[in-house]
Amino acid sequence: MPTECKICVIGGGIGAFHVLEGLEKAAKRGIKIIAVYPSEFIEFGLAAGPILANPQKYHPQYTFTQWKRFKQIEYICCAAAKVSTEKQIVTLKNGSQISYEVLILANGSKLPLLAPTPGMSISDRQMELLKTNMAIKQAEVVVLYGAGLIGVEIAGDLRVKCLKPSQKIYLISKDGGVLKNSFPDDVIPKKVERRLKKMNITLLQGEIETVNGVAPTEPSLVHGAIKFKGDIPELVYDVYIPCFQQGGFTEMLPREILDGNKITVNRHMQSSANERVFVVGGPSSHKMAGHPIAVRTVAVAKTVAYNATQYVNGATLREHFDKESPPPGQVPGFTKVGHGEGGYLYWTDPGPLNNCCCLKCRAGFPCCPPPICWCWCHPCACGYCCGPNQSRGGAILFEKSILPRFVEPHGFGKPGVGLPPFPEKMLEPNRE
Ligand SMILES: Cc1cc2nc3c(=O)[nH]c(=O)nc-3n(C[C@H](O)[C@H](O)[C@H](O)COP(=O)(O)OP(=O)(O)OC[C@H]3O[C@@H](n4cnc5c(N)ncnc54)[C@H](O)[C@@H]3O)c2cc1C
Repeated sequence: MPTECKICVIGGGIGAFHVLEGLEKAAKRGIKIIAVYPSEFIEFGLAAGPILANPQKYHPQYTFTQWKRFKQIEYICCAAAKVSTEKQIVTLKNGSQISYEVLILANGSKLPLLAPTPGMSISDRQMELLKTNMAIKQAEVVVLYGAGLIGVEIAGDLRVKCLKPSQKIYLISKDGGVLKNSFPDDVIPKKVERRLKKMNITLLQGEIETVNGVAPTEPSLVHGAIKFKGDIPELVYDVYIPCFQQGGFTEMLPREILDGNKITVNRHMQSSANERVFVVGGPSSHKMAGHPIAVRTVAVAKTVAYNATQYVNGATLREHFDKESPPPGQVPGFTKVGHGEGGYLYWTDPGPLNNCCCLKCRAGFPCCPPPICWCWCHPCACGYCCGPNQSRGGAILFEKSILPRFVEPHGFGKPGVGLPPFPEKMLEPNRE
């Protein structure tokens, strides 16, 4: 017999956490809620670059088994394998079933290697990261596909944390430039392109057709060749990693609620094809309006939690509106080319962290006020006095202070607890 609940939430990231936070009150009032998490551990997606570049150091810092659980909500750590919207049943990988009145999908986007496959065990994930890191360290040529925010960040992290100067990194862009979907003009993109060049990361234009005969969405850790569309010559590589979000995990869903690989949602963030399904992030047709994306995800999660509760109570749903802070920005508040020493960060005017006086008045080092900033920021984090808002210090500040501070508000909890250690002897020392 399936376990019954009123609301079943599938996911395990920022979206799922804020949905569950929004459902806590309903759970306290006796509405049965089941959260289906992918496994016993979750990773913090924003740290994918450092984790890939140096897993033994960063994986324990950004992996969690003790995430914040809401008392009245039942948690099941086993990935969902199949959904029947007709029978209102979710079947898990272990074969057990959950019947629901309302289903909330907050299960993110596919990012092979950069995020664990849902349902993977912690030891399999450690082994995957270990093998990837070994292959990267031994590679002559590493190819990353996708020159958006993710690709630029990962390329930078691999260069500063993992690869020797003699090892080549190619960042492939369909249109030849970087960050085309993130900025309306090319001021920051051009700066980033120059930075990549300085960091010995080669930007190549081309649309990949296949990687050893396989779709470019699949990573490869063995020597092979990339075939491009058009008359661009083949590129030989040792490691190939796609660095773009590949749409939601929709294979487990029935065709009736899918439109291609998306779920079309109405203004209540509810599936237009099935009123019992609400969606946050990855599989949703709702385009996150503005930056930071994670904050926009939180706004949708809150709407979904509210509307799911209203639906169960037979009450009126509300239209989605985003009143999260910071308000939606037209462009990313910052662009990172790697984290920490050797990385580089460009702040954008106006960015979410622009409440810092140095960014506003361009004081910068050495004119920034030491008592306020220097004990928290890395000096030069905002750039130099009267200079542009960009610096190496920003990348160091991000790694030391900002990234670790993002974890707690999204319920990830205390990192590293309960994780098995990496099998150290299989690893060569990293460059850091
Ligand atoms: C490298 C990188 C850097 C980023 N930097 C920033 C940044 O600086 N600022 C910013 O705002 N955003 C950033 N983002 C984007 C941010 O990470 C996402 O917006 C956010 O993580 C989306 O949250 P989510 O919960 O929707 O999806 P995810 O974080 O992808 O979480 C989805 C969860 O659902 C689980 N899941 C999937 N399928 C199943 C299943 N069948 N059963 C159970 N569970 C399942 C997954 O395992 C995962 O735990 C970055 C992303 C990346 C990859």
